[in-house]
Amino acid sequence: MKLSIIKCAACGHEPFVKDSKFSEYRKEYNRFEKVFCGTNSCREAHDREIPKGYQLVHFWFGVWSGLRVMDIENYKVVKRAKQLVELALKG
Ligand SMILES: [Zn+2]
Repeated sequence: MKLSIIKCAACGHEPFVKDSKFSEYRKEYNRFEKVFCGTNSCREAHDREIPKGYQLVHFWFGVWSGLRVMDIENYKVVKRAKQLVELALKG
């Protein structure tokens, strides 16, 4: 049986995953710069800073999350929202 390795960028947690289970997520996984596991201990111990222009998305049963370059459309929406907030604060 083929196994895939997925590694948490924060704590190094590295479970083996059956390839047959993972294959449908592989394409998405490959788009991520980093992935983070979903354990509470990891979440509490590590700061998951999201660089500008990136977004953290849930992936793989919503347990793991992945960091990827923000979609252009999404980026525009967020940027526009920030501008509106700034305008509101000024006014
Ligand atoms: Zn982790």
